[in-house]
Amino acid sequence: MKILSTFCLLSALVLVGCSQEKSAGPINAMVINYSGSACKFSVSEKPIYTLDSITDMRGAVGRVVRNDLDISSRPDILDDYFGFKPVDLQFSKSGTSYGALDSNTLFATSLYYSIEQGYLTFQKFGVDFGQAVPNLYETRIVHNAIAGRKNGVSLYEINDNAEFLAHQYTVNGQVGVRNFFFSYPTNEVKDVPLGLNIGVMVHEFSHLVFNSLYFQNAYTNFDFLNTNKPTDNTFVALDEGMADYFGFMATGDPMFFQCSFPEENRNLTIPKAFTQDVVSRMALTDGSFDSHEGGAIWASIQYEIGTRIGYDVNARSLVQLMSNLSQCPDVINGTNVSADFGDIARCHFNLLNTRGNIGSQANDVRAIYQKYLGTYGGRF
Ligand SMILES: [Zn+2]
Repeated sequence: MKILSTFCLLSALVLVGCSQEKSAGPINAMVINYSGSACKFSVSEKPIYTLDSITDMRGAVGRVVRNDLDISSRPDILDDYFGFKPVDLQFSKSGTSYGALDSNTLFATSLYYSIEQGYLTFQKFGVDFGQAVPNLYETRIVHNAIAGRKNGVSLYEINDNAEFLAHQYTVNGQVGVRNFFFSYPTNEVKDVPLGLNIGVMVHEFSHLVFNSLYFQNAYTNFDFLNTNKPTDNTFVALDEGMADYFGFMATGDPMFFQCSFPEENRNLTIPKAFTQDVVSRMALTDGSFDSHEGGAIWASIQYEIGTRIGYDVNARSLVQLMSNLSQCPDVINGTNVSADFGDIARCHFNLLNTRGNIGSQANDVRAIYQKYLGTYGGRF
């Protein structure tokens, strides 16, 4: 049965309300479910908790849409959502279970599901979305996004990628932020496309959280971003590292990234250190800085700390760290921000020590930091 959005209108005549369109409580839907083992994914039924309307794929974490325009050539569509259209959805329904009848529907439902996994993961570890991201409901999750990117003078179309964008806009003198997740077409990724890799989409969701808990406030109050290297490179790399850790938390798979890009050094179980070379690259100002390098090191350190004190305990402390960066004396002095990974690690260690109830394990955490921080660890 194809469920149409006009169903509600028809059913109102016989007083059965909109229960078919409005999902009260969890519904079950077929989604592409990356299992996290052996880079295989399956289509299976999963509960979706936050969906208000399955017929336009809208709920607490946003709305799944598509666009036929090149976003980069029409940046104005990000200001007002012009150009984003509902995905054409076709489901079969049995009880509270929905089954996608075509690939668009399957992909859209899976995208919503994977973003919801980010929401549920961060909610579990203490993020209050009502406060941190009050406009989350307005987020757009763009299926098959089309965008070009400049490579020197030539423009190429983005594929095999997923992105989070916090788009700042000004309409009638009002400044606001609209949150977007882009899932780009898949051309070359062999195993799990990025948009269907739950770890990758939760990685993207983590960028939304970090942006809300730290960057938005920092942009407003501190004058350092894009001017003070290596401090701002450090924060961007920290953002990437947090994202990899929470991608792991959502999937239980510390190798989730390898299933999409096996050649990247993003396996959390492989220990990595801030070598002198990495530290010197953190000061790059010519645009060649790769934030994922330092991020992968931070994520591996957090994984090892998690194996010692509990992954959940560490996840909770990392959410606290994101919320507290702006008050951390190691990081910020008045409105002056100056931080390297040693400063941030100390801030994290102090939070864990005072709020994490890690007791004698504090010495283990310190030892882990000292092992991998390199020159950053000197003052630990
Ligand atoms: Zn990222």
